[in-house]
Amino acid sequence: MSEDSRQIPAERFATRLAACRAAVSEHGFGALLIGVGPDLRYLTGFVGEPMERLTLLVIPRQGPVSFVVPHLEASKAQATPLSAAGAATVVPFEETADAFTLVAGLLAEAGTAAGSTALPIGLSDRLWAMHVLGLQRAASGRRFGSAGPVMRDLRQVKDADEARLLRLAARAADRTVDAIAAGRLVGRTEAEVSREIRGRLIDEGHDMADFAIVGSGPNGASPHHDAGDRRIEAGEPVVLDLGGTLAGYLSDTTRTIWVAGEASIEPGPEFRRVYELVREAQSQATAAVRPGVPAERIDATARELIAAAGYGDLFTHRVGHGIGLEVHEDPYMIAGNTTPLRPGMAFSVEPGIYMPGRWGVRLENVVMCGANGAEVLNQSGLALRLVRG
Ligand code: ZN
Ligand code: ZN
Ligand code: ZN
Repeated sequence: MSEDSRQIPAERFATRLAACRAAVSEHGFGALLIGVGPDLRYLTGFVGEPMERLTLLVIPRQGPVSFVVPHLEASKAQATPLSAAGAATVVPFEETADAFTLVAGLLAEAGTAAGSTALPIGLSDRLWAMHVLGLQRAASGRRFGSAGPVMRDLRQVKDADEARLLRLAARAADRTVDAIAAGRLVGRTEAEVSREIRGRLIDEGHDMADFAIVGSGPNGASPHHDAGDRRIEAGEPVVLDLGGTLAGYLSDTTRTIWVAGEASIEPGPEFRRVYELVREAQSQATAAVRPGVPAERIDATARELIAAAGYGDLFTHRVGHGIGLEVHEDPYMIAGNTTPLRPGMAFSVEPGIYMPGRWGVRLENVVMCGANGAEVLNQSGLALRLVRG
């Protein structure tokens, strides 16, 4: 398979399902019920949006795995790599049937065969309340819990196919940032630049542009400022935070650039000092990544440096979040998360300093924990860029 292939081979899904089954027993569940969302995509390859009709992968601790779907989606479910490989059986239901009763029947059958009817059923985090309530009604004798911890253990360590797709997405985001920094900004609104970013994210290989934050001047002091009508001026910084989805996997990168304009207005000493502080915090936090280090240590590394320079109160968010099929997922780099890093964990390292009413600086790379340290997936430069146009 070529390095830039977007396909995930069917065997990979069978491997993931086998690991999930082992975890179902380890976590003491009788079965897991996985609704439409990233967990289902991870296990089956099924791509779709949740809707009122129930779509559910039923994974008992023993026995056949059923993919319960509305009749009109049966062929789509059958074509997923997991079903096509014969590792799950598609169970379609008719438009007038009660899908919850159908699922309750499958659970009862599998539970009786495995002697596990007293064990709780794990529900995926993204299952809608209307579905949870329907299942509780139809399987009224059963206890329900969260499948979140099971799926987190599996998904937070990326396999080789996921790592490849995260790299492809990161590079596509890098090319987008580089193109924006090489273009014209003065006099354009944030919204115009944001639209250009979205277009470029697609042109560079994403299937979807998910976000394109453009925070110019004072707007950069709000970390999740979107993009508005403000016109970018010469002599101010702009925070660009952008990402898209490529074959299901997210990119997410931030660069803060200085708009010098044709008048070549240089940044002042305070901006330069803050920029270099954030750059150093980003670099030291990345250097702290290695197997066994608690996730909170990555946050603390950046935070201690920024606090020592007197800007601790202006670094108002955790330093990073896991990334994969979701833009924010486990593991979170935040005080209190003692999860030891493991090879294959992918997450952002994105310290920032926000000067209210003036400007902000944030620099963000996605990194993956390797055997000896971080593999940095984003490769566009971190040195301050001065945009002349
Ligand atoms: Zn964010
Ligand atoms: Zn971001
Ligand atoms: Zn991020």
